[in-house]
Amino acid sequence: MKRQTGSSMKPIAVLAPAIEKKLITNVTVFADEPTTFTDYNGKPYSPTDYDDYKGSITLRQAVESSQNIPFVKIMEQLTPQVSIKYLEKMGITTLNDNDVNLALSLGGLDQGISPLEFAGSYATIANDGVYIEPTFYTKIDSISGSNILKSRQKKTRVISKDTACILKQLLTEPVTGTYGTATYCNISGIDVAAKTGTTNENYDRWLTGFTPYYTAVCWYGFDMNETINFNGKNPAGLMWSSVMKNIHSGLPNKKFEMPSSVLTRTICKDSGKLANSNCPNTFTEYFLKDTIPGNCTQHSGSNLNKNNSNKSPNKNSNSRKL
Ligand SMILES: [Zn+2]
Repeated sequence: MKRQTGSSMKPIAVLAPAIEKKLITNVTVFADEPTTFTDYNGKPYSPTDYDDYKGSITLRQAVESSQNIPFVKIMEQLTPQVSIKYLEKMGITTLNDNDVNLALSLGGLDQGISPLEFAGSYATIANDGVYIEPTFYTKIDSISGSNILKSRQKKTRVISKDTACILKQLLTEPVTGTYGTATYCNISGIDVAAKTGTTNENYDRWLTGFTPYYTAVCWYGFDMNETINFNGKNPAGLMWSSVMKNIHSGLPNKKFEMPSSVLTRTICKDSGKLANSNCPNTFTEYFLKDTIPGNCTQHSGSNLNKNNSNKSPNKNSNSRKL
């Protein structure tokens, strides 16, 4: 079974490769506005946002409410060819030459993806960047206890642990953010990363996500494409939430860990750059080495970040679009 994925594709097709290649950070700013792109077949491509355009927003905000335009812009920079290379390393086998276009970023696919392969790709993020081939058994023993067969799961590193941990934390945004699309997937005391997906005509609904314990992918729809009608919340999300809440009951509280090699900085909310003592609204953000933005120039004050515990220097020389 293969289905169109909609926005559930964004983390694996766009975020994982683009963060790994340092094309974007969580504070990269995008103009979320009507945009016409030139696609790979030379034709104009004018995707729309699901709800309202939000104007100037950071990557984190784009993830929270699943805006489309920023992801297409990143795909344009990343290229579909590079995206597909990463997706194949994450176990996706159903992409082809017809997927070399910008709609790949939004999960508009030629053949689609199976829920099993999709789960394997999301588990790559959950497993700190290592793809582990899914299996349906661990071992087969004879009645006398000798082992007849053991599962051998192929393991491949696809993205660095630091990238995976930044992405895990970023993907909690749809669950914890004020405008989050999957807030009902929250599990008390346990971090949840989750992404929703919807396709044209409401044919498919997805919820793809993981916790520090389990990865699960749910699809909801008809065998033959038919519009899904429902009141209120995404039915795939409700299914995901009810199964995941159940299998996590009784497990110890657990958070996604952030390695000390990931840098933490205080950022000015107005400029998206390193905050100083006079920036009125600030927040903490995570960065890969060599991706720290420049200093805020909208406000002037003394450096807030010089006492951060991470030893790596602030590199302001990169000409990142912020
Ligand atoms: Zn500022």
